[in-house]
Amino acid sequence: MSRDVCIVGAGVAGIGAAYALRTTDANVTILEKSRGVAGRAATRRKNGCRYDHGANYVKEYDERTADLISDLGTDGLVDIEEPIWTFDAAGDIAEGDDRDEHKWTWEAGITQLGKRLLDQTNATVERETRVAAIDRDYETGVWSVVDTDDVRHGPFDVVLLTPPAPQTAGILTEMGWGSQEMVALREAIGSVSYRTIRSVMLHYDFERNDPWYALVNPDKEHDIGWLAREECKDGHVPDGESLLVVQMSPEWSSEHYDDDPDEIARTAADKVATLLGDERLRDPDWVDHQGWRYALPNGSAFEEVIRRGEEAGLYFAGDWTVGEGRVHAALWSGIETGERIIDQF
Ligand SMILES: Cc1cc2nc3c(=O)[nH]c(=O)nc-3n(C[C@H](O)[C@H](O)[C@H](O)COP(=O)(O)OP(=O)(O)OC[C@H]3O[C@@H](n4cnc5c(N)ncnc54)[C@H](O)[C@@H]3O)c2cc1C
Repeated sequence: MSRDVCIVGAGVAGIGAAYALRTTDANVTILEKSRGVAGRAATRRKNGCRYDHGANYVKEYDERTADLISDLGTDGLVDIEEPIWTFDAAGDIAEGDDRDEHKWTWEAGITQLGKRLLDQTNATVERETRVAAIDRDYETGVWSVVDTDDVRHGPFDVVLLTPPAPQTAGILTEMGWGSQEMVALREAIGSVSYRTIRSVMLHYDFERNDPWYALVNPDKEHDIGWLAREECKDGHVPDGESLLVVQMSPEWSSEHYDDDPDEIARTAADKVATLLGDERLRDPDWVDHQGWRYALPNGSAFEEVIRRGEEAGLYFAGDWTVGEGRVHAALWSGIETGERIIDQF
């Protein structure tokens, strides 16, 4: 008997689950609030540039990740060769302890990871569909999902929620299933806190010849947390130009999250110019912005609690379920959750 599975969120966790389910005859529907897929591991295009404005790359964390990436095809695969260096609170730059792990993205951007996985599935992706609530029919045990336009989707045998924990907790708030279980679930999920990041992209019509791909601030005392040269990724920035992806520190980002984006870009450009000792960097010829309120989870929800709904067909996946704000962690949480769903069929 074919099963109907609804996955909320087309980030790498949701897509990973659909990828695991590709070997079954499940009808998989992914409901995604944005126009694009891959969530925090997505890519933007502007003025002839491509840039990974959230996750910068996927680390070759382990063998299964390496195998999966190579199975997706090596055409357009980019291994960022330049190292990551560090800077401290005083702005002193030093060579980093950049171990020889591969740092993968694609010429067409890191969004390729999600897109290539998705291409191997039969999942239907309904974009610009923001889920507001889920509901369970006690008699039949089937689930339905209601979006913010009040459209009801379903029935589904299984619902998998993958948005960041606070957004997932919000979806559960509207639900009346088994009150005790629900209270425990909402508390476990709602307890996961996040670091906030403002990303600013600064474009220049000249190139710099730095020996590093990115600079990271390990003492976490600087207003800039991370600064990367997107031109180190083949296919991202035309020759003769540079595009800096700046992630302001979580403390600075939380404090200035709602500031005027252009003001944020001006401040970021000033801080970058000072850090790199290059006055030209104060005047980018164009900028772009992205606020990530839920950028990186600080921990995970208690696994035993979030698995309690599985017998009834309610699953959770995402970086917050494993406590690691990393693409590979989110991806494998999705794939492994997909495998548990299959076991239940
Ligand atoms: C600035 C930044 C830099 C990072 N750098 C790196 C890096 O270099 N390397 C690395 O490995 N990791 C990095 N990460 C972390 C990595 O991006 C995440 O851990 C990973 O992408 C999380 O995937 P996910 O599927 O769990 O969640 P998400 O990517 O957040 O996916 C959740 C999806 O759910 C959708 N959604 C949310 N609410 C709803 C709703 N109500 N209805 C429908 N859809 C909804 C969202 O639009 C999104 O597409 C970075 C993250 C950020 C923000």
